[in-house]
Amino acid sequence: MNRRIGILTSGGDAPGMNAAIRTAVRAALHFNLEPWGIFRGYHGLINGELQPMTSRDVSGIIQRGGTILKSARSDLFKTPEGRDRAVDMLRKHNIESLIVIGGDGSFRGALSLQEKGINVLGIPGTIDNDIPCTDFSIGFDTAVNTVMDAVNKIRDTASSHDRAYLVEVMGRHSGYIALYSGLACGADVILIPEVPLDLDEVCSKLATAVDEGKTFNIIVVAEGVRPAQADGNGSPAMQIGRYIESKTSLETRITILGHIQRGGAPTVRDRVLASRLAYYAVELAARGVGGKMVGEVDQKVAAFDLAYALAQEKQLNMDYYRLYEVLSAI
Ligand code: ADP
Repeated sequence: MNRRIGILTSGGDAPGMNAAIRTAVRAALHFNLEPWGIFRGYHGLINGELQPMTSRDVSGIIQRGGTILKSARSDLFKTPEGRDRAVDMLRKHNIESLIVIGGDGSFRGALSLQEKGINVLGIPGTIDNDIPCTDFSIGFDTAVNTVMDAVNKIRDTASSHDRAYLVEVMGRHSGYIALYSGLACGADVILIPEVPLDLDEVCSKLATAVDEGKTFNIIVVAEGVRPAQADGNGSPAMQIGRYIESKTSLETRITILGHIQRGGAPTVRDRVLASRLAYYAVELAARGVGGKMVGEVDQKVAAFDLAYALAQEKQLNMDYYRLYEVLSAI
C-alpha cells in the first residue's frame, strides 16, 4: 500500500486554493503517495469526511475560485479532545502526513498536529497576505485585482461633483490589500492599520485637493483601520465618510467590497504560486519532512519551520507606502 497523504483547506477560502489542491493530488500520485481529500477543514477531519482522490477528481478546477474541499472553522479542534479525535481519524485511515492550505489560524492547528506525530506541511492560502516567510500568499493577487476592477468602475461613474469615494477592503490586521490595490488604482488616500490615522490631516488633504480643482477623490480603507476621531458607529469607511462630510464641503460615497474579494477566477500569479507551493509541500512530505510551511521568497520556493513562522510577524513593505505618499502628494 502506498503511503497516504491528506489534503485539507481551512479557515477563510482564497482563490487559487483549487489550483493548490489539484497540484497536491497530482504531485502525490507522482511521488507514489495516495492522496486523500479531507472535506471542511479540521471540522470534517474530526467527523471523518475524507476520501481517496484521483487525478480526475481535480480535473477542471484550476480556474475556479473557492475550494472543492470546502472550508470550515472548528472550535472543537481548538480543544485537546478535538485534536485527539482528529489524530485518531488520521491514524485510523493510515494517513501519515497532512497538507494544510490556509491562514495562520490553520497553521496553528497544523502545528498542534505535528506535535502529536502527524507530519504537517502548511501552504499559505489567504487573500490578506498576512503570513510571514512568503512574499505572497495564495489568493492575494486575485483579491487585489478584484479591488482594482471595482475601483476602475467607481472611477467611471464618478461625475463632476465634489465627492470622496471611500472603498473599504479586507484586512483586519493587515494593510496589504489596501496598500497594493490603492497603489494600483492611484488612490488619493490609503488608510491602513499599520500607519497611525489622523482624520483631520486627511480632511485637510482633501480640502486642498478640492481647492486645486480636483473633483473627486478615491480613498481606500482597510477594514482594520480604527478611526479614533470618528463616532464609532458602523464600518471604518462609514465612520470616516461621516467625519469627512462634517469637516469638509465634500459629499462621500461608500463602497464596502466585502466577500467579492474572496471570489473569482484566480489570476495567473495565484495559479502558478499555488502550483509551485503545493508541489514543493508534497515533495517534502514524500521525503518524510513535516512541521514546515512552504513559501516563495524572491521567486524561490522555500520551507520554514512552522513554529518559527508562527512566531514571526509579517511586515508590510513600507517602500510601497512611501511611493503612495509621494504620488498622492503631487
Ligand atoms: P485562517 O487559517 O484563515 O487564519 P482561522 O483563524 O479561522 O482561519 O483558523 C481556522 C481553523 O484553525 C480554526 O477554526 C481552528 O479549528 C483552527 N485553529 C485556529 N487557531 C488555532 C489554535 N491556536 N490551535 C489549534 N487550532 C487552531
